[in-house]
Amino acid sequence: MKKYVDVIVPLPVMGQFTYAVPEELEGKVEWGCRVIVPFGAKKYYTGIVIRTGTTPSGEYETKEVSEVLDTHPILLKHQFAFWKWMADYYLCTWGDVYNAAVPSGMKIESETRVEGNPDFEASAPLSEKEQKVLDLLGQGKAQDIARLEKESRIRNLLPVIKSLLDKEAVRIKEELKQNYKPRTEARVRLTERMRNERNLHIQLDLLSRAKKQQVVLMKYLELSHWKEGKEPEEVSRTRLLEAAQAASSVLNGLVEKGILEIYLHETGRLCTDDTGTTQVNTLSQAQQTALNTILHSFAQKNVCLLHGVTASGKTEIYIHLISQVLEAGKQVLYLLPEIALTTQITERLRRVFGNRLGIYHSKFPDAERVEIWQKQLSDSPYDVILGVRSSIFLPFQKLGLVIIDEEHETSYKQQDPAPRYHARNAAIMLASIFGAKTLLGTATPSIETYYNARQGKYGLVELNERHRQIQLPHIELVDIKELGRKKRMNGQFSPLLLQKIKEALESKEQVILFQNRRGFAPMIECRTCGWVPKCRNCDVSLTYHKRLNQLTCHYCGYTYQVPAVCPACGGTELVNRGFGTEKIEDDIRQLFPEARVARMDLDTTRSRTAYEKIISDFEEGRTDILIGTQMVSKGLDFDRVSVVGILNADSMLNYPDFRSHERAFQLMAQVAGRAGRRNRQGLVVLQTKSPDLPLIRQVLDNNYRELYEDQLTERRLFRYPPFYRLIYVYLKHRKEEVAEQAAAQMAAYLRNGLGDRVLGPDKPPVARIQALFIRKIMVKVEQEASLQKIRLYLTEVQRAIVADERFRTVNVYYDADPM
Ligand code: ADP
Ligand code: ZN
Ligand code: ZN
Repeated sequence: MKKYVDVIVPLPVMGQFTYAVPEELEGKVEWGCRVIVPFGAKKYYTGIVIRTGTTPSGEYETKEVSEVLDTHPILLKHQFAFWKWMADYYLCTWGDVYNAAVPSGMKIESETRVEGNPDFEASAPLSEKEQKVLDLLGQGKAQDIARLEKESRIRNLLPVIKSLLDKEAVRIKEELKQNYKPRTEARVRLTERMRNERNLHIQLDLLSRAKKQQVVLMKYLELSHWKEGKEPEEVSRTRLLEAAQAASSVLNGLVEKGILEIYLHETGRLCTDDTGTTQVNTLSQAQQTALNTILHSFAQKNVCLLHGVTASGKTEIYIHLISQVLEAGKQVLYLLPEIALTTQITERLRRVFGNRLGIYHSKFPDAERVEIWQKQLSDSPYDVILGVRSSIFLPFQKLGLVIIDEEHETSYKQQDPAPRYHARNAAIMLASIFGAKTLLGTATPSIETYYNARQGKYGLVELNERHRQIQLPHIELVDIKELGRKKRMNGQFSPLLLQKIKEALESKEQVILFQNRRGFAPMIECRTCGWVPKCRNCDVSLTYHKRLNQLTCHYCGYTYQVPAVCPACGGTELVNRGFGTEKIEDDIRQLFPEARVARMDLDTTRSRTAYEKIISDFEEGRTDILIGTQMVSKGLDFDRVSVVGILNADSMLNYPDFRSHERAFQLMAQVAGRAGRRNRQGLVVLQTKSPDLPLIRQVLDNNYRELYEDQLTERRLFRYPPFYRLIYVYLKHRKEEVAEQAAAQMAAYLRNGLGDRVLGPDKPPVARIQALFIRKIMVKVEQEASLQKIRLYLTEVQRAIVADERFRTVNVYYDADPM
């Protein structure tokens, strides 16, 4: 009887697909293994088997699995349960989750482009098909697999390509997709027969007629310190050819004669040195009490919030907790919001956990991510994973604890593409699937988390003193509106801030300046007619970057020339409006020419090493003043920062978002928390035009509780989280009318079933991105309501909309718990 399996493919299509298992693959196709399957018109994808022994529904023609890639599952049962939950909760497909979860090197497909590896040296004969592909690739440029398939007339080329990839005969074209290639090195050794003094001598004599080969062989003996009965040193092919100054054909001659052989040595990319030697620091009494309370709370509850002021030693507590979990033989996932932070925390954890610690983040090349994935599946996985949001997808075998540091951070939310998940909330679910515990840590909890803790759903542990009882920084308020009126401001700087920077520099201390906008000027404007340059594809004004002398769209990344004259009126005076970090940097360099200044924002940290350099320069005192966006607020731990300047608090308050006050508080409290962490009390100069706002007072007094109470009152009144759940429905289309009509129609349908829970449609603040018009419908659901029903209803309505001929090409998607 024919056997069938269900497979998911890495595409935004609903559900799973049934495939027949051909006879020759029977017994090989297991749950959780990757298979190559045809899908759509002549395309092949890497799918994953999620059910075996199924029967076809008969709705569509059943195709056959073409190849099995794994002998062991690469997906684990718990993990798949997590995928299903995620697709369900965030209203996307299993394929979306699969795509986000698995590194691209593990899912080659027909569109993948490959190229021949010029350094390839066959160590074993290639199959006929493999040779054919290599011949086709020749010396030429990369080709996609679908095309190679056509030209070679080999049906389903993916398994052949995979095997060539494994042998490193071909590689994936990097600029398109950074894919996996195990890092191996070709090395040279004597064949078995030759590893004996006598045979070797005979052979050397015989080679007197092939001088070049003789030279290479001699060189090998020299480099490997060859001696009978002793383990020779390893010699790489490249090194040998270089040392002997020989062409590879000479070496090939020796291989053909059966004198030398080439073998591949896997060097691996993961760091495996140092083994962690340092003892953990002894906890202070307050810290020990907090740890005990956390453990106590874990006895009853699955989630606990550690609300500890900045520099109270939360990280130290995490380290103690991790050690305990490791002793119990379980794994730990330690989540951080952004890679800016990982550098510092990595060092602290590495000292204690050595090579039991694995790091995983989005700026790693795909190859490294594949390697970590494979290691986590092996029988010696990392026990502790430190990573950013995507590390929740790694295959854990025995997860015991999840730590979510800076749990309030909005960068835990994935915005685009689907799944638009919140890594904090998803990680809590992941932990619960494993029966593991979750610890949330922060000095400024999100309103939702604090609410859950106050309601008793989570445990709550508070730590109100800094380590060694250093005082929290003193905050000086400066009214820049008043100073501006009196013409006493120097650009964006108040006399007090300048004075304090000067003093800090004189006493060899460091300064952090925080400005919420990057670039030079957030906007330029024609002085005559008020014309403002906007992006061609998006509904936003362009940011001026002085160093690059260009205008950039921060939504789609498109760049433009700065116009010499105003295209609207011909005026020649274009003026800058607002101040970005680049402008602040320019001004500071003029005001303090002797100071060493660095800037940390999205523009200066495109690469991983750039981050590390900025941070280590500052850490080691090679920089005096660090200027940055919110990046400088995040959990960084420096010991010589005595002054922090917040240049313009108001710029954070004017976002049309119900979370803007919460965020402004968090940002200011966090950036203030970088001051005076290890030695003595630091100073924060807070510049604002509205010193009387309650929020500013709350920052000044570090009064989180009052902020929380204020926010709760507002959120209850206006029906926002934590009292209501939000789901945003987005509709996108190239034509504005189509987006508009589809949204109106969809909102009307939704209202039929959900009543006044539905608001809109509206134009979002940025109503056009990358040439697509956007409309947004907001759905507010009371906490008690059944999400399951709402989701079903949403998908039903979506189906009805897309079934309408006019709206067939409208892109509908959801953002659950938007940030
Ligand atoms: P948080 O994570 O709460 O911001 P950290 O764990 O970074 O605080 O602690 C702040 C600083 O104080 C760090 O430099 C840390 O090494 C030091 N520190 C905190 N607790 C201890 C301790 N028990 N022993 C030694 N150093 C500590
Ligand atoms: Zn003009
Ligand atoms: Zn744009």
